[in-house]
Amino acid sequence: MGEYIMTLDEGTTSARCIIYDRVGNAVSVGQREFKQIFPNDGWVEHDAMEIYSTQMAVAQEALLKASLTYRDIDSIGITNQRETTIVWDKETGRPIYNAIVWQCRRTADTAEWLRDQGYSDMIREKTGLIIDAYFSATKLKWILDNVKGAREKAKRGELLFGTVETWLIWKMTGGAKHLTDYSNAARTMMFNINTLDWDDEILSILDIPRVMLPKPVPCAGDFGETIFELFGGKLPITGAAGDQQAALFGEACFNEGEIKSTYGTGNFLLLNTGNKPVYSSSGLLTTIAWGLNGEVKYALEGSVFVCGAAIQWLRDNLQMIKKSSISENFASKVPDSDGVVVVPAFTGLGAPYWEPDARGAILGIKRSTKKEHIVRATLESIAFQSDDLIKAMEKDLGRKITDLKVDGGASLNNFLMQNQADISDIHIVRHKSIESTSLGAAYLAGLASGYYKSIEDIIEIKDIDKEFYPAIEDEERQRAKAKWHRAVEAVLALAEDEEF
Ligand code: ADP
Repeated sequence: MGEYIMTLDEGTTSARCIIYDRVGNAVSVGQREFKQIFPNDGWVEHDAMEIYSTQMAVAQEALLKASLTYRDIDSIGITNQRETTIVWDKETGRPIYNAIVWQCRRTADTAEWLRDQGYSDMIREKTGLIIDAYFSATKLKWILDNVKGAREKAKRGELLFGTVETWLIWKMTGGAKHLTDYSNAARTMMFNINTLDWDDEILSILDIPRVMLPKPVPCAGDFGETIFELFGGKLPITGAAGDQQAALFGEACFNEGEIKSTYGTGNFLLLNTGNKPVYSSSGLLTTIAWGLNGEVKYALEGSVFVCGAAIQWLRDNLQMIKKSSISENFASKVPDSDGVVVVPAFTGLGAPYWEPDARGAILGIKRSTKKEHIVRATLESIAFQSDDLIKAMEKDLGRKITDLKVDGGASLNNFLMQNQADISDIHIVRHKSIESTSLGAAYLAGLASGYYKSIEDIIEIKDIDKEFYPAIEDEERQRAKAKWHRAVEAVLALAEDEEF
């Protein structure tokens, strides 16, 4: 039994491999970017062969850097960009088209057609998702419709479909295993999250042959063994989960009512809703968190489109700050934002507002306004937007959420975290390692292999870096939130104004 766990973290722009020791320290990291392909306006593709070769290269690199061999590795866990769609030939092992990336909008028309046909409620009930081109189903249909002869070949069982973890597992096991884990399957918009199986009605509407789909399995378990040639010996793959769900697991949000927020370029919030799917009244997505030990946990998911991106905007466009981290010093130099509210709706507003036409605004500017106030108000806007999602989740869950686990680059900003604790009246925990996505994959793999005996082992090894407690009166909180909501209303009103 090896002393380390290897995680493969296949992201949207780069592949990473992190090797962890028993207490969750990263002992080695390999990382490489891969090509982004933009064949048309709004289209995004990756070369699936490059995804595989890059991922294998960083795995070798991480082993080499730490002078480890396959014998030192207990098991492999995989986490990945979700929804990205790959179709390949079972015989040759080669993709028949580039991977269509989650960001790709080419199938927006198909999504609209599905909505026009009145399938929204059915798809929502079965998959937990709101019909969108983002999810795999319409992308898979596009490949079958547009690559010559693809549908016939697929029907004859000659083609296979997979999201990225499925593809990596199939390649790494030499084609022995064609599997997807529940958390990734739940993002395809053709997987029934209640029955844990592909949905024949949706498959038939989109004319997708079931025979090409991988077998859905829990996130911790037997995903096969790597072929000998990869590492000079076989290694078991025992964990897989989509990136956001892996992060929820990595933050040890194992119980109902536990929530994590990843403050990256955008901000992803996931709430563990326990053994039952909860359907949102605010347009949040219902998804599978993970399958583990014969149980399935569900989650509510919401995202803020612009989080760290607003700080990048201050840095790169407005040139108010030189480094993202300096925003904290700027914000702390002034006692408040002097009445300024920033609504960074650069690309519209998501949940709970859902207004794609909204655009950003800086309100309440006075003669006394300084850049420190604008920087501070921008950080505050991140907390306000996250709070709107937390409140929507509380409504759906039917009770108050008391604790929030945070990760992602902008979670290192202490001003922002304190502001979040104040605005949301919530206790915040930031762990020492904010690489929760990779850690989640390592934990899943380790639990399945017996490296970790139980989730209690994991809770024990999670070290806290810093905690934040709410420190303002409720009256002040409500006043600040009311002001934010009035600013959002102004932005929403302008979105209605065609002349603007
Ligand atoms: P992603 O994985 O989405 O690329 P990261 O988790 O690496 O994002 O976080 C990077 C984002 O966080 C950037 O948008 C950056 O501007 C922002 N960021 C990083 N450090 C800080 C900080 N100390 N304060 C505020 N924002 C920060």
